Amino acid sequence: MKTKEVLNRFSITAKKSLGQNFLTDTRILQRIVDAAQLSGDDGALEIGPGLGALTEYLAQTAGNVVAVEIDQRLLPVLGATLKEYSNVHIVHGDVLKLDLEALWQQHFRPDQQVSVAANLPYYITTPIIMKLLESRVRLNNIVVMVQKEVADRLAARPGGKQYGSLSIAVQYYCEPEMVCIVPRAAFIPQPNVDSAVIRLRVREEPPVRPMDERHFFAVIQASFAQRRKTILNNLLHSPLCAGIDRPTLEAMLQQTGIEPSRRGETLSIEEYARLSDTLLHIAKK
Ligand code: SAM
Repeated sequence: MKTKEVLNRFSITAKKSLGQNFLTDTRILQRIVDAAQLSGDDGALEIGPGLGALTEYLAQTAGNVVAVEIDQRLLPVLGATLKEYSNVHIVHGDVLKLDLEALWQQHFRPDQQVSVAANLPYYITTPIIMKLLESRVRLNNIVVMVQKEVADRLAARPGGKQYGSLSIAVQYYCEPEMVCIVPRAAFIPQPNVDSAVIRLRVREEPPVRPMDERHFFAVIQASFAQRRKTILNNLLHSPLCAGIDRPTLEAMLQQTGIEPSRRGETLSIEEYARLSDTLLHIAKK
């Protein structure tokens, strides 16, 4: 697809407010599709098909493709660029408002493997990824182009500056794997930052089984409330530990095998699961 030609033919200018940076590098388009590991029978969901560049590659590889686009101006463009493909269904709407379960029921067979492939609009990367994961729809791989800095956070391991509540939340549901770094020159118009393609392989089972998932995520949020503070100080100031005094919390951390002077960014997902369960026990007493 000749991106500039399509934009001119339909008199379209990219809308910054919708995160419109159209990917023009065919090698990267192919790498995204390869990373999604689609077979000819699989379903694919694309978020933000734009002018249809990635959609075309997906249509040639997957059994069927559902693509959700918010910008009404692009619907006639997609109608034209994808006219050869009868296995593509365009949904006009905001992915964050969409009922994913209903979408799955309508477009994918119950026994069908489904993966997501998308060059995400950067202003809503995290809400989209979290919606896909928390909705618990049947998913195999999520292959997304995101800002390089976000990809680093998604894949970060304990101990580094990039590691935070987003890393842990995503790694609870998925195994992340960096696919490639993408320079800004691969897009029209060029974004202000470099990008990366990351594959999130959705796990069948989470790596830990906290007693209460919501509490587990709340403990993680509280532990990163102020990155420079110790785990002890962050928890002491959290409503989750209301009524627990400093010596009790200190002793509780030590019993859980967590040195109170550590920072939240050094704790593994297993340690967070243990910590969450211990805090629940104390709260019940
Ligand atoms: N897939 C195309 C490509 O790779 O060239 C376009 C990617 S562009 C980075 C992001 C696309 O997401 C745009 O087409 C934009 O209109 C669309 N978009 C933005 N917000 C959206 C939302 N809330 N729901 C669905 N699509 C959205």
